[in-house]
Amino acid sequence: MCGIVGHVGSRPSAPILLEGLKRLEYRGYDSAGLAAVEGGAVRVIRSVGKLSALEEKLRGTELRATLGIGHTRWATHGRPSEENAHPHAVGNVVVVHNGIIENYLALRAELSAAGHAFGSETDTEVVPHLLDRSLREGMDLEEALRETLKRLDGSYALAVISADRPDRMLAARKASPLVVGLGDGETFVASDIPALLSETRRFIFLEDGDVAVCDRSGVRITDLDGRPVDRPVQVVQWTPAMAEKGGYKHFMQKEIFEQPRAIADTLSGRLASVEGAVHLDGGD
Ligand code: GLU
Repeated sequence: MCGIVGHVGSRPSAPILLEGLKRLEYRGYDSAGLAAVEGGAVRVIRSVGKLSALEEKLRGTELRATLGIGHTRWATHGRPSEENAHPHAVGNVVVVHNGIIENYLALRAELSAAGHAFGSETDTEVVPHLLDRSLREGMDLEEALRETLKRLDGSYALAVISADRPDRMLAARKASPLVVGLGDGETFVASDIPALLSETRRFIFLEDGDVAVCDRSGVRITDLDGRPVDRPVQVVQWTPAMAEKGGYKHFMQKEIFEQPRAIADTLSGRLASVEGAVHLDGGD
């Protein structure tokens, strides 16, 4: 489990992303990072440990970018380190991911054979490499994302930005949560509603197979083949405190009802992390 957040608009993204990540930190605290498109280039800032370490690193840095994505990591493949922290950038494209790409070793072998050099031990890094390859073949960002998603087995919530398209943020999901938040002249994505409640109350809940293209004016959603998909806009009445309680009356009640999911998440994460370690030690 980890948390992702993204913003495209006309005010600076960094404070919005940091605030969102604070609300998502319960989803992972191995590392945190931000990426923004500024001056025609992608800028990535990452830090091991809690979000406060990233905030410390950002102190004194001027980030005016109005397009950005952020991540707080709960490592499944690759130890908690700065190299393994998200966002992961390749060329002009940068990605944050929640989930597990189960066929990453095969994809990594294929991409390595084609000359791609990997900078992390994560399953996630195959995603920006696949995107980069498709972009170099001449596809546009949206097409490249669809082609990439068709190659992935496993689970993902993804947010993608590129220095070549500073006007948009793409997102997609399969078996990991992802919501789109609709603002006034700006659009957001996040793993969970509380991350965005200080910005908007209007949400679209993405479903498996959805690909969202977000810009300042809103979102366009399609399926993996580019066919338009209609998803209702829902207005959430919760206050941030109510949202954190997930609709339950008390945190204790929430914890009790979340136990089965928490145990399942823990077990799947642990097993995935053991498998990842074995594969990587095995000479990947
Ligand atoms: N599998 C990715 C990683 O280990 C994402 C982690 C997650 O979703 O918790 O970096």
